[in-house]
Amino acid sequence: MTWETVIGLEVHVQLLTRSKMFCGCSAKFGDPPNTNVCPVCLGMPGALPAPNERAVRLAVRAAYALGCAVNGRSIFARKNYFYPDLPKGYQISQFEEPLATGGRLEIVTPEPGVLTVGLTRLHLEEDAGKSFHDRVPGMTAVDFNRSGVPLIEIVSEPDLRSPAEARAYLVALKQVLHYLEVSDCNMEEGSLRVDANLSIRRPGEPLGTRTEVKNMNSFSGVERALTLERDRQVAAVERGETIVQRTMLFDAAANEVRPMRSKEESHDYRYFPEPDLPPLVLPDGWLKAEREALPELPAAKRLRFMASFGLSAYDAGVLSGTRELAEYYESVVAEGIEAKEAANWVMNDVLALHPEDVQRALPPATVADVIRLVKAGTASRQAAKRVLQELDARSANVTLAPGAALDVATDLGLIQVQDTNQIDSWVRETLDAHPAELARYRAGETKLMGFLVGQVMKRSKGKADPKAVSAALSVALSGP
Ligand code: ADP
Ligand code: MG
Ligand code: ZN
Repeated sequence: MTWETVIGLEVHVQLLTRSKMFCGCSAKFGDPPNTNVCPVCLGMPGALPAPNERAVRLAVRAAYALGCAVNGRSIFARKNYFYPDLPKGYQISQFEEPLATGGRLEIVTPEPGVLTVGLTRLHLEEDAGKSFHDRVPGMTAVDFNRSGVPLIEIVSEPDLRSPAEARAYLVALKQVLHYLEVSDCNMEEGSLRVDANLSIRRPGEPLGTRTEVKNMNSFSGVERALTLERDRQVAAVERGETIVQRTMLFDAAANEVRPMRSKEESHDYRYFPEPDLPPLVLPDGWLKAEREALPELPAAKRLRFMASFGLSAYDAGVLSGTRELAEYYESVVAEGIEAKEAANWVMNDVLALHPEDVQRALPPATVADVIRLVKAGTASRQAAKRVLQELDARSANVTLAPGAALDVATDLGLIQVQDTNQIDSWVRETLDAHPAELARYRAGETKLMGFLVGQVMKRSKGKADPKAVSAALSVALSGP
């Protein structure tokens, strides 16, 4: 009998604001340690917090995009614990009355395909500082620049059934948050952090005891850590042990998960409402405006690309991957290029020149010109690829003029010969040079057509339009 894996994720995402959640300090990543601090984020006695409106707006935007119900009234709460990187001795978070509840995220997995994952809640909180154990020999250093940086925590239902699904969830979540410009979701810089809860059970049984896995710094790390933890739990249970609810740390270098020291596992946060902040009240009109201002989200875009452009699910998924790429693709289509044709060129040729960087891609009008060269028979598909590369190289130095595609094709000698007299004479020369093949063709070996077309192309040094060559050959071969 097999085991079913059950996973729920708690994701912390840093909001893209200039300043911190409750003070005016810069929230920038990478500044010299302890340069972006003030009495508020250092927790000096008497300092008072004031919420960052932009952070609230971004959190609300994310909540609506994720289908949550946004509460017009929510409460900030203190989460108390002792740790050197927490000068206040508590984090301001939300607990009993969070900003948003419910919600869902559509994810695309290789195995079952499109799945909807339920969300439990989304709330606002501030970050803690960061400890460094490797900067000063024999000591731990603390950087408080991150103290008070705005975060949202997004908690999923235990709806995920494999480490691969957990990864797909993170990919989808990052995509939505990118579309919204809510966060850059960079795991390496810590602007997205994942606590992953996992349990196993026999299918149909109630949920098993979960453990929480931390310390992953990439999406693939999450998948790997969860695979290790699942295997560990299965082995333990099959040995007759019971799973203890605890926190596990992933060690990427050792490729293992091991229990956190139990001393660090204090679970009693003694939450209570933050006395220095009134309830967060968001007027209906403001909420409505935020909801209506949402852009088209990746899942909707993917479906629209499939329905109105006839793209495959895969192509639609790639082209709706980022807002920039989707906009780019649609501009090529808007130049009058057939949608599937445009998809092929953008995915196979244009993106290949600057993978992952649409901003550096050639202007859509130029790409459309290149595609039209092929359509018109002016250049072959292969030649047009070369034209595209050359245009790309030139565009690094100069702004491309209209008609640049044709100029480049001419410069590179890639214009196909359409001239029927010229093609007819190449055909005649070729047939004269291959009397044996000609005889065999006439005796019924018609598959020699391909060979003969190839020979004519060779004679033209690749410049003849292959369609015109085929036509000319057919005429010549059917004649006397
Ligand atoms: P805490 O904040 O103490 O970690 P929560 O109730 O907020 O606890 O749950 C955290 C996460 O754990 C959620 O994402 C939830 O889906 C997940 N979870 C809860 N129970 C299980 C379980 N039995 N197996 C796997 N994940 C679970
Ligand atoms: Mg937790
Ligand atoms: Zn500050």
